[in-house]
Formats: sequence, structure tokens, C-alpha cells
Amino acid sequence: MSSKKIVTLGAGISGLATSYLLHKNGFDITILEKKKEAGGSMESVFESNFLFDRGPNSGLETSPLIGQMVDELGIREQMVYANKKGNKRYILRNNQLYPLPMSPPAFLKTKLFSTSAKLRLMAEPFIGRSKDGYYQSIAEFVKRRLGKEFLDYAINPFVAGVYAGNPEDLSVKSAFPKLYELEEKYGGLIVGTIKSIKERKQRAEKSKQSAKMFSFKDGMQAFPAAVSKYMGSRVITSADVHSIEKKENCFKVNYKTGNIEESVECDAVLSTIPAYSASEIFKPFDEKLSEHLNNIYYPPVLVLYLGYNEKDIKQPLDGFGFLIPAKEKKSFLGAIWSSVLFPKRAPEGQASFTLFIGGSRNPEIGSIDKEILFKKARNEFESIMKITGEPVFIDYRYWNKAIPQYNVGYIEHEKYFTEFEKNNPGIFLSGNYRGGISVGDCIKNAEVTKERIISKFKD
Ligand SMILES: Cc1cc2nc3c(=O)[nH]c(=O)nc-3n(C[C@H](O)[C@H](O)[C@H](O)COP(=O)(O)OP(=O)(O)OC[C@H]3O[C@@H](n4cnc5c(N)ncnc54)[C@H](O)[C@@H]3O)c2cc1C
Repeated sequence: MSSKKIVTLGAGISGLATSYLLHKNGFDITILEKKKEAGGSMESVFESNFLFDRGPNSGLETSPLIGQMVDELGIREQMVYANKKGNKRYILRNNQLYPLPMSPPAFLKTKLFSTSAKLRLMAEPFIGRSKDGYYQSIAEFVKRRLGKEFLDYAINPFVAGVYAGNPEDLSVKSAFPKLYELEEKYGGLIVGTIKSIKERKQRAEKSKQSAKMFSFKDGMQAFPAAVSKYMGSRVITSADVHSIEKKENCFKVNYKTGNIEESVECDAVLSTIPAYSASEIFKPFDEKLSEHLNNIYYPPVLVLYLGYNEKDIKQPLDGFGFLIPAKEKKSFLGAIWSSVLFPKRAPEGQASFTLFIGGSRNPEIGSIDKEILFKKARNEFESIMKITGEPVFIDYRYWNKAIPQYNVGYIEHEKYFTEFEKNNPGIFLSGNYRGGISVGDCIKNAEVTKERIISKFKD
């Protein structure tokens, strides 16, 4: 196996983590990355003494592989876990922030949900399975099992926080497979949660609720940067892959570095670039695959980063931040209280916040003047947080195509990816449009993809 050559397309966390594992298994790896730096969506910036992440702010340590890689890469000292205050998450209702209840007694006491919503939730164990199977949105699933108010004031903001998505569009099976499985396997969410905790313990895995939230002293990009450093000259940046040719016994991957045409031959291609980019490259291989990839929706997201003097903020900074249900009709999806979560995100006496604007809820942001968007979001944010002074720092990052939406019917894409790989041995499709969008899922998926590649070469 050691002589087998793999070319990985994309040096985001999916491409880097999978390549790292393959390299450790003796494969000869080259990673081609379009941008000047490795990391993909993971972009950390240090400016005017503020450290901010333009993409993911944190990851959840859902797999032992994360800690293992951190140790092997020698960056344990760099890793930071979120402040315990981060366990407290707020939801906005009628312009007021309510902590999301995290225990049964807190749930009974909270004013976030009405009494009838609480009673409705308690009926969950008595509700049967749906006949719709795969073709249910998370909204339909939650409304049926937990009631409309829980959908509006817990799931709707949660979905905006994770996917920048709409619960009415996202498939419960593809976007929230664990939740779907609880109903399928155990008949309900409450009974299923209790039983699955036991099973997870046996597999040494952590649920997303109990996994520790991590980042790095220099921000999230420190992780891909460390993998890239370890892989050394195997990572080629500013390498824009534009086509792949199937030769008799190998693949030829063609790319451009500036104006220079280059190519590399290999036994297998691992694609971890976004679906819309893969759609172009694999079109000559299979038009139908190209259509499937091109039909995956990536809404735009505007990340607005704000710094203030702490003395001007009247809202106690004792949590992760807050999420906004669509019903509240605000111009942004929520805000992370960045400097509360991790150390050194803001200078002494100042606090920093990351606001998310757009997503599937407001995809029209692409055509609205950014200054207008900022002004509206800032005014609303300052009112919610009871901020009296001007921001001392402002920055933003516009993601034209931010996060793939695993919408209802996604199962058809997933099935076709498997079929394509079967018909085109030696091409592997991976990345955050397959197997989960979170950083933790991308890393877990790296292990799965590595195994798929190893088993191909065992044949
Ligand atoms: C704004 C935002 C906030 C997020 N927040 C969180 C969070 O807090 N927690 C969390 O867990 N997840 C979060 N996510 C999701 C998570 O960050 C991503 O799903 C994950 O980082 C994707 O990794 P990836 O390697 O699959 O893809 P990417 O990071 O997209 O990497 C793909 C790479 O392929 C390269 N590429 C594209 N085309 C070509 C080509 N033709 N040739 C060569 N290279 C090419 C790109 O330049 C890119 O570097 C967030 C995402 C965004 C956008």
C-alpha cells in the first residue's frame, strides 16, 4: 500500500485530517489547495489586539481522534477549552434574553416556554413513528414529536446557529441523523436519549451535548495550520485544480499555480472541495453527479465581528451568547460572546462578539449594501445587550456560499455519491457536504474516508 499515491483536492479540515491519517498509513500524499493558506473555512485573524475567527469559532470534541491528533501534532499546549460560562445559552423572546433550560427542573421553571408547551413536550414518549421516513424536514419531525412552540423557540434558533438554515427545509434524516435514529431505533427521543447514552459510553464517543467545546490560543486555524506544517511540502497552496483525466492505470490531476499549468499523476483522487467546485471538475466523468453536487444549496452568511468597552455593556456576560428565533424578526441570526468563551479574544477591559447575518433565513443579503446590514444588526444587537457606547472594533467576512444545507431529499444525493464511487473506482468524494458539517464531524469522517481508501487498495 505504501507505494500508492493519493492526490487530495482541498486543504480544509476534511482534506487535511484525512490526508494526515492516510500519510500515517504509508500512502504517498499530495494536497492541492486553491487558497494561499491551508484551513478552508477555518480562518483566524489577529488585528488591533482582537483575535477573531471568521469561520468556525469552536469545535466539539466528539471523537477521541481530535485529542489524539492534537497530541501527535504537539499542539496540546495551544488547545483551549471553553469557559464553563459557555454552557449557558440564551434565546431571544420578546426582546428579552432567556437562558435555554439545561435540566428538567430548569425546564419546568423557565419562562421561555409556556405551560402548554411544557405539557406538550411531556407527551413525547407516547407519540408514534412517522410514515414519511426519510422525507421529513426537521420542522415536521419536531412539531409532531415536541410541539410547535418548541420548534419555534428551541429548534428554529438552534438550526440557525448550526446550519444558518431553515428547519422547514433541512432533512431530519440527513442533517440530524442522531435525532432521526432515536425515533427509528428506540421509538422516541426521551427513551432513545437515555438508552443511547449507555451505548455511546461503550464506544468511548461523546454526544454533542456532553462533548467539550475547544479552540486554540491563536484561534481555530491553528489546527489546520499544524496539520499543514506536519505534512510539509505535501501541501501545495495556490493550486487551483481545474480538471482530472482518467488514464489507463492512473489519474492525472491538472491545476494552475498563478498562470503556470501543472499536473500530478496518482492512483486515487480524494475530493474534499465544496460540492459546487466538485460539480465542475467531475462533470466530464458523470453529468448526473455534477447535477447532484450543483443542486446542494449553500446560503450566504455575513459574519460581523464587534468589539466594545466592557463598561458600556449592561447585559451580564455570563454565557455562550444568544440565538434568535425567526419569529422574533431580527436582521441577524444570533451572536457569540467570543471573549467570554475563550481567552485573549479581546484586549483587557474590552469584549468581542461575533454576529451571524443571512443564511437560508435571509439569503437576499448578497444583494443588500453591507453598510445597511451592519447598521441594522448593530442597532438591534446594542439594544438587546444594553450597550451604551460605540464599538471600538469592527470587522467582517462575507461567505458567498457558506454551509451546505442537507435539505429534504438529500438522501438522493447521498445515494448517488455512493453509486458514482462504485462506478469510478479510485475517486473518493468527501468534505462537509457528506457526513456532517461540523468540524468534529469532518474529523470523524476523515477516519471513515481513510478506511474506505485503505479497503479499496486491499482488494
Ligand atoms: C461562517 C461559518 C461558521 C461556522 N461555524 C462553525 C462552528 O462554530 N463550529 C463547527 O463545528 N463548524 C462550523 N462551521 C462549519 C465548518 O467550519 C465547516 O463545515 C468545515 O470547516 C468544512 O471543512 P471542509 O474541509 O470540509 O471544507 P472547506 O473548509 O470548505 O475546505 C475546502 C477547501 O477546498 C478548497 N478548494 C475549493 N475549490 C478548489 C479547487 N478547485 N482546487 C483546489 N482547492 C479548492 C477551498 O479553498 C478550501 O480550502 C462554520 C462554517 C462557516 C462558513
